[in-house]
Amino acid sequence: MSIIVHKYGGTSMGSVERIKNVARRVAKWHAAGHQIVVVPSAMSGETNRLLGLARELSPMPDGRELDMIAATGEQASSGLLALALQAEGLKARSYAGWQVPIHTDSAYTKARIKSIDDARIRADLDAGCVVVVTGFQGVDDAGHITTLGRGGSDTSAVAVAAALKADECLIFTDVDGVYTTDPRVEPDARRLTVISFEEMLEMASLGSKVLQIRSVEFAGKYRVPTRVLSSLTDPNMPLDEEMKSGTLVTFEEDEKMEAAVVSGIAFSRDEAKITLLGVPDKPGVAYAILGKVADANIDVDMIVQNQSVSGTTDFSFTVNRTEFARTLELLNSTIVPAVGAREVSSDDKVAKVSIVGIGMRSHAGVASLMFRTLAEEGINIHMISTSEIKTSVVISDKYMELAVRALHKAFGLETAPVTKV
Ligand code: ASP
Ligand code: MG
Repeated sequence: MSIIVHKYGGTSMGSVERIKNVARRVAKWHAAGHQIVVVPSAMSGETNRLLGLARELSPMPDGRELDMIAATGEQASSGLLALALQAEGLKARSYAGWQVPIHTDSAYTKARIKSIDDARIRADLDAGCVVVVTGFQGVDDAGHITTLGRGGSDTSAVAVAAALKADECLIFTDVDGVYTTDPRVEPDARRLTVISFEEMLEMASLGSKVLQIRSVEFAGKYRVPTRVLSSLTDPNMPLDEEMKSGTLVTFEEDEKMEAAVVSGIAFSRDEAKITLLGVPDKPGVAYAILGKVADANIDVDMIVQNQSVSGTTDFSFTVNRTEFARTLELLNSTIVPAVGAREVSSDDKVAKVSIVGIGMRSHAGVASLMFRTLAEEGINIHMISTSEIKTSVVISDKYMELAVRALHKAFGLETAPVTKV
């Protein structure tokens, strides 16, 4: 008998009919002798609706209250699912995060899970129950409800799977797996049957929205076998077929995987670039700029510092577009007066496009094929950053889709991936 955690996203939970389908699917897994914990998201649109109401009342809502409000979405869907499971003849019980409890820190709206008490879940499983645990939420040391950031139910599910040492965590969603890139941008994108954990981590951090990045970090830390698969298939499909569907995030990098130079192309349109021109080139300047930005809880992504010319240098970095105004304001009010830059230039119409693949480790020329492809399309590169298994470029956002399609083709991702460059 294995413990399997199922996670169902908002679309999968989007209507009474869909919730019934989830219950049928869970009943099938239960009937096969598995112990099942289900982690649902709020019904689709519900979290946005709740946060929208909050914003109507307050332009800068208090984080604690936002979490209080947003957490209800998952509480409702979990109770509904427990009822649907009972209607399938199963014993089922739902718990909110604070009831489990799922302990988090106190960073409202983006809390991190610290630990999960698995005693209640285990007791119910041993009593033959299907246990439903709300996604997206937990409780801090003071007993306040917290949420884990948008898309956080993925992380809840993987964390519950880690705590229970589950055999597999199945992330049921509205796509049937992880694709070489977003099929809405490149219709020839192909589903990957396996992806290495490291590639998935890069893809998630670089803008692929299939899994919340923290869920991938959790999966990696606790080596939770995690599969992304569709909830929109026939819930009664044969179990062995279902167990092989979707995309498996794997920790074993076999030779077949090594063969693909690039496995996927990730992109993010939500970027903004800021450059400080004519910054004095002396020790402590990077800290004086980025330390202040970090203190304001703004995540900086790419950073480039130029070689200095006659004692001054140019310093560029990117932030999420939603933090653009706040970052500029911080620069102009405190940072620039303190470090003494000549000028600040900025562009919030940029996008980041990245190629990802563990095969890049052992193949030279991957980045140059990327640059050649972009050059042939006449796309100007503003910034470049690389790691062992990815190369990212910042470009004007109006060329983003063109860049993704051109790179997808150049690396042969629509058919078999390129194995040599
Ligand atoms: N309901 C939350 C959201 O919409 C969490 C989740 O769905 O993962 O972000
Ligand atoms: Mg999601």
